[in-house]
Amino acid sequence: MQKGKIGVTTDNIFPIIKKFLYSDHEIFLRELVSNAVDATQKLKTLSSFGDFKGEVGDMKVWVSIDKENGTLTISDHGVGMTSEEIEKYINQIAFSGAEEFLSKYKNDANAIIGHFGLGFYSSFMVAKKVEIRTLSYQENAKAVMWTCDGSPEFEMSEIDKKERGTDIILYIDDENKEFLETSKIESLLRKYCRFLPVPVVFGKEQE
Ligand code: ADP
Ligand code: MG
Repeated sequence: MQKGKIGVTTDNIFPIIKKFLYSDHEIFLRELVSNAVDATQKLKTLSSFGDFKGEVGDMKVWVSIDKENGTLTISDHGVGMTSEEIEKYINQIAFSGAEEFLSKYKNDANAIIGHFGLGFYSSFMVAKKVEIRTLSYQENAKAVMWTCDGSPEFEMSEIDKKERGTDIILYIDDENKEFLETSKIESLLRKYCRFLPVPVVFGKEQE
């Protein structure tokens, strides 16, 4: 078990995310699906160059809802992440001058998200807790879980996960229960996730 603090210069980016991006909070789904698609495409590229020699397998992105537990999950069988990569790409987000920038561009959520690569963190617009469960394609990689409840403190630990790739599990907060509705997610996927190079399957846990 490892504990740490996400590398942000502001005390807490999460209130900022919620405050400034609130109006457009549904874009979290596009951000998470596009990360899953990117990870999938990266694995296909590695495979075609012979840098990944294993089975590529079923390359889709899965979106599913668990109403009982109040979770929305986005899963892929892409490259996954090692704990070092989580440290680098998730924990050490460069966020200097963010407040200034956000107040200037608060009407344009896309510009903000693009500018800071805030993609993954947009999940905190709708979630009180986010869990990453991931296994890298790299040889002898250990599966890891990262979890964060919206404060800059995260926890990371080794887990047992056999399948390569990443599950992003959002514990949807009380104000955003609509994102646990099938019809809502279906319409968002139609709106934001058509014409992607990887099929997005909704409603089923990954096979
Ligand atoms: P960006 O996509 O612009 O790089 P994000 O905040 O969306 O910014 O994601 C940060 C990084 O986290 C990605 O660049 C990638 O390295 C890693 N990442 C996020 N989601 C996944 C995923 N599903 N599989 C593998 N890596 C991921
Ligand atoms: Mg992204």
